[in-house]
Amino acid sequence: MSEFTSGDYTEEEGRRLEAWKRARDYSDPERKAAACAILLEMVGGDELRTALHRHPARGTYLSKDFLIAAYREMVASGQLREDPAMAERLRMKPVRTLSGVATVSVLTRPYPCPGTCIFCPDDSRMPKSYLADEPGALRASQNAFDPHRQVTSRLASLESVGHPTDKMELLILGGTWSAYPKDYRDEFVRRCLDALNGEESATLAEAQQKNEQAARRNVGLVVETRPDYIRPEELFHMRKLGVTKVQVGVQSLDDRILALNCRGHTVAETRRAFRLMRAAGFKIQAHWMPNLLGATPESDREDFARMFDDPDLRPDELKIYPTILVENSALHAYFERGEYRPYPYEELLELIAAIKPAIPPYCRVNRLARDIPVVHVVAGNKRSNLREDVQRLMAARGEHCACIRCREVRGLHVARGDLRLEDLAYEACGGEERFLSFVTTDNRLAGYLRLWLPGTRSPDLQWPDLERAAIVRDVHIYGQTLPLGGNQEGAAQHLGLGTELLSSAEQIARGAGFSNLAVISAIGTRNYYRNRGFEDGELYLVKKLI
Ligand code: SF4
Ligand SMILES: [Zn+2]
Repeated sequence: MSEFTSGDYTEEEGRRLEAWKRARDYSDPERKAAACAILLEMVGGDELRTALHRHPARGTYLSKDFLIAAYREMVASGQLREDPAMAERLRMKPVRTLSGVATVSVLTRPYPCPGTCIFCPDDSRMPKSYLADEPGALRASQNAFDPHRQVTSRLASLESVGHPTDKMELLILGGTWSAYPKDYRDEFVRRCLDALNGEESATLAEAQQKNEQAARRNVGLVVETRPDYIRPEELFHMRKLGVTKVQVGVQSLDDRILALNCRGHTVAETRRAFRLMRAAGFKIQAHWMPNLLGATPESDREDFARMFDDPDLRPDELKIYPTILVENSALHAYFERGEYRPYPYEELLELIAAIKPAIPPYCRVNRLARDIPVVHVVAGNKRSNLREDVQRLMAARGEHCACIRCREVRGLHVARGDLRLEDLAYEACGGEERFLSFVTTDNRLAGYLRLWLPGTRSPDLQWPDLERAAIVRDVHIYGQTLPLGGNQEGAAQHLGLGTELLSSAEQIARGAGFSNLAVISAIGTRNYYRNRGFEDGELYLVKKLI
């Protein structure tokens, strides 16, 4: 696969790339002077926003990232005193790490995808479905898709803005993960872990073992794939790699629409994939696309309702990606022939506002639109603030979204006494799912655990670790990511909520007659479970209940 150089960019893409680089150039004296003035005003008590207004950096954008670099320099040279509160005020996007972990997205190299989906952009310089100048894709191409370099550069930028990096989630993106050669996948994960470990390992197993004790632990590993590629052997391999969550392209729950868009799989295959993933304990993130060829807002509403009505689906997380009409996709020809109509913005807004209130409290809506640079959008939604507009519309109607994301405590301080434990049971894939959560008096979510109790109609993978076992599929506690050993009074991560949730899960599983409790653990959280009575199995950590 050839390396990707800036010569491959179009003029417009090149301009955006230059702007991207400029925003990261810390040597420009004029911008530095502006940054120093801003920092001094902040020390004097000004809010960042006020200080920024007073000292606009001429002709270029002054990122907080830049400000933090300047702050560090001023501290190092003795111009300013080190002040943790100041670093806190300067943090670039606190929301990114407020859920307790920092995420690094890594793209796989360009490689043919087995899919022929007509809406999917085709850019030979990118893994299928990504555009060369999409945010996130830039870092990958700048690093020639080398996983080690991608992770290292992301760590450097997180650390330069003062984000803790001790708990890292790896998000592997690009085309269909399961279609890449197996050796490539093994190597890819090993190199990501090597980058976190800060040292090379000869094998994947060695890299995993090192990461268990490393300063930067991998606390979640996510891949994206197609439903028809989910088979027991594939899930087994994912588990060997340490995968904890699968992003799966559902796109539509109507065979007619799937066929029209050349998805190459049926709804029956999607349901089968969900049953297998749940039986293996993976967290399931579904991608769903309104406005596909052949859909109408009415058919989309019905389609979406199936996602949670059907007990064989009911994903844990959701990304709603309204179809985006891009030039280098087969869908474009349909549009030119007048056979495809992108929904006007108001129609899309209405549709999303209509389906959102039906999302159950156990699901997290991670995204509402894809971040495709607007120049590529031929027609249809060109606005990027769909989520905010939907929220505003729902609020005006007295409605709200009860999904996980909308209820997370984020940076709020919580006291154990203000939290109550809730237990939401629902049928899923032939068994019972229990969503245990700690909520505040005003229904904010401080943490949760997903417990799966397989039933007689659930798939049996016949993996020894899962014999007569209930499975803990997810434990998530919110709060600012704290450096190992750090303490921030009231942060949810430090109230022992995880331990309490696990013991509730144990009681429920025991009460339901299970002999074992298995947990799907990321490499870096194995020790956490070992310390709570779980023992190493082949693919899971397992605790005997009787
Ligand atoms: S499977 Fe995914 S990446 Fe492949 S063509 Fe379809 S949408 Fe694109
Ligand atoms: Zn929500």
